[in-house]
Amino acid sequence: MKTLQEYITLAAQNHGHMCPGQVLGIRMAMFGLNALGFDDPVECRKRLLTFVEIDRCATDAVSLVTGCRLGKRSLKFRDYGKVAATFVDLETERAVRIVARDDSRERANSMFPALSDPYEAQLEAYRLMGDEELFTLQRVRVALGPADLPGRPRSHVSCESCGEGINDGRERRIDGRVLCRPCAGEGYCQEIRDA
Ligand SMILES: [Zn+2]
Ligand SMILES: [Zn+2]
Repeated sequence: MKTLQEYITLAAQNHGHMCPGQVLGIRMAMFGLNALGFDDPVECRKRLLTFVEIDRCATDAVSLVTGCRLGKRSLKFRDYGKVAATFVDLETERAVRIVARDDSRERANSMFPALSDPYEAQLEAYRLMGDEELFTLQRVRVALGPADLPGRPRSHVSCESCGEGINDGRERRIDGRVLCRPCAGEGYCQEIRDA
């Protein structure tokens, strides 16, 4: 594994700026990898799957450190609005969920009373605070099916309503029809048709 400072430099380039959320994300990923006994990011890239629970700065840093990416199916997003991530060793099925402690922000601000800007205080403090001060760690079990894992698509069907293709068993079966999730009422957008 690289050092915290090396990751900070890389993360700033990758994310476009350095910020407290990224320091937290780097620390979170390093803590998670250590807890699973990984030291070699190349080795863990094939064995590791990561769930992130927020789409903010910390997630970019978690992805950078772990090498887990959405397009490789090794990064999974669950939209819970929490600064938390779960690291899964696919070989042993061991997993740890790490959550940023809510009180770490106040603690960070009180560590540097001379810094009037809480952003600067957090940036400094998150480098220095102990893992236990920053995070709570839980050992967890994650239910993963073959259709969740990296590799070629496990299945491919067409939606009987819109005709679009659906991979990896994400279809719904309703009243004997195969439907994509939007056609089953789970869509996030609606087509605008010209009158
Ligand atoms: Zn940021
Ligand atoms: Zn459809």
